[in-house]
Amino acid sequence: MKVYLDHAATTYVDEDVLQAMMPYFVDTFGNASSQHQYGQASLNAVDRAREQVAAAICARPSEIYFTSGGTEADNWAIKGIAHAYQHKGKHLITTVVEHHAVLHPMEQLEKEGFEVTYLPVHADGRVDLEALKKAIRPDTILISVMFANNEIGTIQPIAEIGKIAKEHKIFFHTDAVQAMGACPIDVKELGIDLLSMSAHKFYGPKGVGALYIRTGVKPQKLITGGAQERTMRGGTLNTPGIVGMGEALSKAVRDMEKNNEHIRALRDYFVAEVLKCIPDVVVNGGMEHRLPNNANISFKFIEGESILLSLDMDGIAASSGSACSSGSLDPSHVLLATGLPVEYAHGSIRFTFGKSTTKEAVDYTLECLKNTIEKLRAWSPLYADHIRR
Ligand SMILES: *Cc1c(COP(=O)(O)O)cnc(C)c1O
Repeated sequence: MKVYLDHAATTYVDEDVLQAMMPYFVDTFGNASSQHQYGQASLNAVDRAREQVAAAICARPSEIYFTSGGTEADNWAIKGIAHAYQHKGKHLITTVVEHHAVLHPMEQLEKEGFEVTYLPVHADGRVDLEALKKAIRPDTILISVMFANNEIGTIQPIAEIGKIAKEHKIFFHTDAVQAMGACPIDVKELGIDLLSMSAHKFYGPKGVGALYIRTGVKPQKLITGGAQERTMRGGTLNTPGIVGMGEALSKAVRDMEKNNEHIRALRDYFVAEVLKCIPDVVVNGGMEHRLPNNANISFKFIEGESILLSLDMDGIAASSGSACSSGSLDPSHVLLATGLPVEYAHGSIRFTFGKSTTKEAVDYTLECLKNTIEKLRAWSPLYADHIRR
């Protein structure tokens, strides 16, 4: 049996989405910037997708800028705001649990002379709002806090952060890549000034995303060289990708409740069974403010990489931490930030469920997981010590 439990890394393209994209590869291939009918047909499709994306977050179409994905949107939001508003101050605030697409631009800005405060989080992964208030300075220009965490699924108190940011007239950016299609989002109500998203996390194609930029907020242009995206990001538009993103997000929002219910039931069942059947495990992150698709579990005395390899041989795809930092054997910065001891962090696996995951697949995974953990612990000198004690 083949089981894919890594939907936080990427999703397959939904069949309806693929069908919506197909005409834009061959038949309607015009450059959306061309004046002739070929171009106008593509432009109409892009306009429609922009409306779909805007509607999904209660924004205006003119506030949506298509990008190559979440990483680009995060980079643009952070460096774009820093560079455009540095005359007002050179201090930014973020958290220790952000995706590297936020952390690395922040580090780059620090090398340029900006100052960055990295807020700590509670054991459930939520940011400390008191620490946020204390971190604000007269020269703070941006607060960037992710909507939901990609490793442990924690949903941040976005409305509260939006309110604090507004009170202090500081821009608020959120990386909502993991939240799209799972959490209802109204950017106006939540006080969000900039929001990043990526199509391949909600059953759309890879290589396309968007940045919402509230009217009146003016980050530096990202790419010059064309008048596309109101001159902010030059380059011929990826029409099929953009059409796919619009369709995927529309469908994800339309089916949100149904999908969440299905996914949450499977995740809760999985977690309950793991806790019941496997000793010495810890579920990471709180269960209250959490994405319905995420289970992150530490198996003490063994290495996450060995668990993943063994599961992979059984046809099961899961992940240790984020896909972007895999290959490195450092324990996850997110898990350590929640206060999880290093030895637990090393044995942590993220299982992320999807809308077509079945109960059968979860049962098969549970069976394989039990066997894998038993086998690996039988080989583990750490576990032998533990048993002897
Ligand atoms: C996947 C992910 C990204 C990166 O998006 P890409 O489109 O793959 O560049 C950024 N932030 C979070 C939270 C993610 O999960």
